[in-house]
Amino acid sequence: MCSICGERVLSSYAACDADGLLRCPACRRIQHYYERAVAFGSYEGTLRELIHLLKYSGVRPAARVLGRLLAQSVATIEPEFTQESVLVIPVPLYKGKRRQRGFNQVELIARAALRFRRNGKLELAPDCLRRVRDTRSQIGLTSHQRRENLRGAFVVNRSPEVTGREVLLVDDVYTTGTTASECSRVLRRAGASRVWVATVARTLKLASKYQELQQQEVSEFQGLNVSKICRDCLPTLEPRDFETLKL
Ligand SMILES: [Zn+2]
Repeated sequence: MCSICGERVLSSYAACDADGLLRCPACRRIQHYYERAVAFGSYEGTLRELIHLLKYSGVRPAARVLGRLLAQSVATIEPEFTQESVLVIPVPLYKGKRRQRGFNQVELIARAALRFRRNGKLELAPDCLRRVRDTRSQIGLTSHQRRENLRGAFVVNRSPEVTGREVLLVDDVYTTGTTASECSRVLRRAGASRVWVATVARTLKLASKYQELQQQEVSEFQGLNVSKICRDCLPTLEPRDFETLKL
């Protein structure tokens, strides 16, 4: 996996740079606005179902499970945090969408994750970042179009809170990285000293192409085992089961 963006790197490209970090070809070329992006697992199977359950079916207890998984991926970058306290900022929804859905699923996941990492280092700041315009779906857009689509969509509400602070940006899914990049750019411009990105899931560009390879190397990526983890703790995905299991 690329140490910076978390993308799968083919072994022929796998080489560590001078700082000991493995970078994919894209991350060798460009400098991100964020330090590193981590994800618990691949956006497929049960993990994908759980996210959909929360996001589209409004099964809120799913946030607790997803929060626990997010907390695990946060733990992998926590040793690299340099400040005593890190601001946790969930990627915001546009107000119309939030009203329609009734909640921001990312905020629910972030809140749940913080309950699993109670060392006082993480401070939730859900209102720091605001989405000021609705954006069309990123599906089918080129990388240039995706950047254009998101440009100006986010603003920092309370710059003084962010100035000089280390920020952990949280999202449910890391797809192309455009949202993470744009939010990080805006946060850095508002004075954030460093931005880290943690998501529950991410889509792997190579996933479909190398599905067979993935199946052979199942233990290589933690997320691919998530179906097993979830099957263990969630016999079915019915809302009443969440109740019974007190998840
Ligand atoms: Zn990369």
